[in-house]
Amino acid sequence: MKKAAIIGGGAAGLCCACELLSLAGGRVAVTLFEQKDRVGRKLLVTGNGRCNLTNRGACPDAYPKDVRAFAAPALQRFGPESTLRFFERLSLLTHTDGEGRVYPLSNQAAGVLDALRLEAVRLGAELRCGTAVTALRPAKSGWLVNGEAFDFAVLAPGGKAAARDFSDRLLRALSLPLTKTAPGLVKLQTADPLPRSLKGLRARAKLTLLLGGRKAAEETGELQFGDGTLSGIAAMNLSSVCARAALHGETQAEIAADFVPELPPDALKRLLQTVAATGQREMCEDLLSGLMVKKLGVCLLKRAGIRPDAPTRSLTGAQLDALCEQCKRCVFPITGSGAFADAQVTVGGLSQSGFDPATLESRQYENLYACGEVLDVDGPCGGFNLQWAFASARLCAASVAEKCL
Ligand SMILES: Cc1cc2nc3c(=O)[nH]c(=O)nc-3n(C[C@H](O)[C@H](O)[C@H](O)COP(=O)(O)OP(=O)(O)OC[C@H]3O[C@@H](n4cnc5c(N)ncnc54)[C@H](O)[C@@H]3O)c2cc1C
Repeated sequence: MKKAAIIGGGAAGLCCACELLSLAGGRVAVTLFEQKDRVGRKLLVTGNGRCNLTNRGACPDAYPKDVRAFAAPALQRFGPESTLRFFERLSLLTHTDGEGRVYPLSNQAAGVLDALRLEAVRLGAELRCGTAVTALRPAKSGWLVNGEAFDFAVLAPGGKAAARDFSDRLLRALSLPLTKTAPGLVKLQTADPLPRSLKGLRARAKLTLLLGGRKAAEETGELQFGDGTLSGIAAMNLSSVCARAALHGETQAEIAADFVPELPPDALKRLLQTVAATGQREMCEDLLSGLMVKKLGVCLLKRAGIRPDAPTRSLTGAQLDALCEQCKRCVFPITGSGAFADAQVTVGGLSQSGFDPATLESRQYENLYACGEVLDVDGPCGGFNLQWAFASARLCAASVAEKCL
């Protein structure tokens, strides 16, 4: 009987335990080490407590350019349909929303955690909660985990996002290559006064991330204004691109917001000219009504140098141009982002170069594997990060199981 140690009892660690025991139960004993008093605590807060466990569109191309090639073998072998079949085997039924986001039928993250935890226990995994792994060393054949001998070790300790203790000391002790890290899927900070004056307001917009003045990424969706911050799914997705660029030394970032993405600039200008010329809307404050939330429209008028109480008939061509520019390209210089404590994912981690993407085995150490957020892979909002956790965990399990045959 072989022995496998899984370090970390989160989404990836639990999934790896279930898959490994279902593939090689009887030939491998699994011990899962979790530093907290219970496994899967972070799973409970995912998806606002509903756990968006995968996304039907989670193919490699849906992930950032820098992680696609590395993540592809796991994501192709254990794609979203495979994740759903995995959870069906655990009697967890799901539903999918219009954006491809998958949730448990109960809409309760606890259901996902229970399914994983109960299956791991049913299949015979030993869950050692309240046991942090503080020492991990290669032994003659296999690994010493807190001094105990194992044939295999699987690293699944997660990342720094919303986690108090990151296991970098453990990883550094092994000299595993680590990239720099930054918070991803987090609020963006700006010194621009507009978000503060619209605090709490949400608007639909097409956001373009400009890095060093060049277009780097685009997202259409919800933008939420906060106290000097931009959030909402579209802004949070761009925050990860921004973070990855900053790790590569690109620090000049701007977000250009198009608040009327449905209309090309000419069409918007014609529309506003007609409304102004006919006097259909008497006051400028009503000019953008129907195109966007009124409060946002008033702020854009002021940015364009137009008094909201001015009559629309008095608007000059230059003023209409300035207003169209603010509606179609309202630029916010980005000064930073929220902290790891407020982030949903870690950008960076264990370097992709240190692991074979086909097996997720370390290139440096035999019988050492890694899965989940600890690796330098992150995805956008919408179930893509848990999909990576599950797909990479199952790839590790399949690789270990093959060695147990
Ligand atoms: C608020 C929030 C909401 C989110 N919502 C979603 C969502 O809806 N959909 C989605 O796809 N993603 C979501 N994510 C991201 C997702 O939760 C993570 O990508 C995923 O949990 C990563 O799984 P993991 O197992 O790699 O790490 P984790 O879930 O962080 O698990 C790692 C575990 O290892 C333990 N550990 C660490 N070091 C040690 C050690 N030395 N010894 C023993 N144990 C150790 C930790 O205590 C932890 O329990 C969300 C994240 C946050 C913070």
